[in-house]
Amino acid sequence: MPIKRTIKKEFIKTHPKEGVVRFVALGGLEEVGRNMMFFEYGNEIVVIDAGLQFPEETTPGIDFIIPNISYLEAKKKNIKGLIVTHGHLDHIGAIPYIMNKIGNPLIYTTALNRAMINRRQEDFPNAPKLEFEIVKDGEIKQISENFRVEFFSTAHTIPDSIGVILDTPVGKMVHPGDFRVDYDVEGNPQNLDTWEKIGKQKIHTLLLESTGADKEGHSLSERIVEAEIEKIFKKADGRIIVATFASLLDRLSEIIKIAEKYNRKIFVSGFSMKNNIQIAQNLGFMKIKKETIIPLNEINKYKDDKIVLLCTGAQGESNASLMRIINGDHKQVQIKKGDIVLLSSSVIPGNERSVQILLDDIARQGGIIYHSRMVDIHSSGHAPQEDLKIVMKMVKPKFYTPVHGYYFMRWRNAQLAQEALKLRPEETPIVDNGQVLLLSKDAARISEEMVPSYYVMVDGLGVGDVGEVVLRDRRVLAQEGMVVIITTLDRHTSRFLKNPDIISRGFIYLKENKELVEEIRKRIKSMVTRVPSQQIDADYIKAMIRDQIGQFLYNKTNRRPMILPVVIEI
Ligand SMILES: [Zn+2]
Repeated sequence: MPIKRTIKKEFIKTHPKEGVVRFVALGGLEEVGRNMMFFEYGNEIVVIDAGLQFPEETTPGIDFIIPNISYLEAKKKNIKGLIVTHGHLDHIGAIPYIMNKIGNPLIYTTALNRAMINRRQEDFPNAPKLEFEIVKDGEIKQISENFRVEFFSTAHTIPDSIGVILDTPVGKMVHPGDFRVDYDVEGNPQNLDTWEKIGKQKIHTLLLESTGADKEGHSLSERIVEAEIEKIFKKADGRIIVATFASLLDRLSEIIKIAEKYNRKIFVSGFSMKNNIQIAQNLGFMKIKKETIIPLNEINKYKDDKIVLLCTGAQGESNASLMRIINGDHKQVQIKKGDIVLLSSSVIPGNERSVQILLDDIARQGGIIYHSRMVDIHSSGHAPQEDLKIVMKMVKPKFYTPVHGYYFMRWRNAQLAQEALKLRPEETPIVDNGQVLLLSKDAARISEEMVPSYYVMVDGLGVGDVGEVVLRDRRVLAQEGMVVIITTLDRHTSRFLKNPDIISRGFIYLKENKELVEEIRKRIKSMVTRVPSQQIDADYIKAMIRDQIGQFLYNKTNRRPMILPVVIEI
């Protein structure tokens, strides 16, 4: 949970100065996810991406977190467009929640991204119909008087990803979105000419992602990944189950191709994965033979060595297909001895424990596991150190700002830029969410001003109604449990009519702690008898129980359960 900062009230009135472009990230700079940022000049704003973040340990029960858009909401008339770099949820996931509030600006993006955004929009019947301008590699759009954008194709893990060269009155800003450098089997980098061309344009500021900035070396060639997966296919005689992300479309495409080569049929389990494959196929990003994909309910008609099952759940997510298959909760498929299970993704930090359980369960049931720590069957979509340096050196910007990732990752990324580009620390400013970076012709300076960027949480149908208080309660309940104390009070005499009832959940087991329960009752009664009856009312008793019983329980148990006093007046 980021520290809440005091926000200067006048932020909305602040008028951007002449000759200064303001850059602000509303999310993505103190976490992995929730990517959203904007550039502002005069009365014009261009927004890039609008993603969501998955919940953390400190946000129990939350579905996900979206960027805080109150600054943009107040200036929605100035928003000239939303550019979307690629179709991953941490870049598009907030769109259904925010577009109404920021005036439904035109979305500049590629065809596949549009399809993925629209597909998601269908789940939100009240969300507005979105307007798109489809862009391609090399295309230039004058978005507004002061902003002109050139788009360029990038390599990531999903096709049709696009980066931007934003031409502003102070210079050109380059942001590729999530990206990687791909290599051939011999280890030669591919498609560097795009970066070389950008380098000829005199770039003011380069903003590269930091997701891979603490990983040494170069990206693993996707061709090696392909070859390793093929080796497994070649010698396999059982069913092959491949678990990966539903949005890792490039990988899915490779696996389908290999399956076709080895005469296996593809079965897909998982709604989002099926959808994504369909979208990519419709737009020609996946070329799949007509007879390759077979409906899942026919899987039992095929011999084991003819089957490839694609599913979600490589992170051990409890509701994903793979988990259901392993737990025996899946309608069509159960794991059996001799199944070959490929986990083709890296473990996202925080998921180590659930992946471990997954591996144990598959192994116990006789599955043969391959995962990315054992063989090269996964390559990250985010450039590691050496790849970041290649791009930095080719683009040769005047200033460098690391984006996307925790502070440490961005700090590491800034260091790399200082090494590779011989920049001074003040030329590689590290901004946090909500900080305003002022970009003028010869400087990049972090302003004192802050734009609101604290969490907006989505919980079921509620957006933003779960605040810090609700979260704190959930944390207390999860860690310390709760004690409900029910007292019945005579309205006239202000005395208790019966012994207080005490209920505990997640605190201590009361049946084994009768003494403590009696002690609580005694204390409540004496609290009331010590006070003149005219002072006593329900609120008074509630406050007293909360304070004094809370303190008493802490002294006795060293725990602070949530105390919920209920007073019934008769
Ligand atoms: Zn991505």
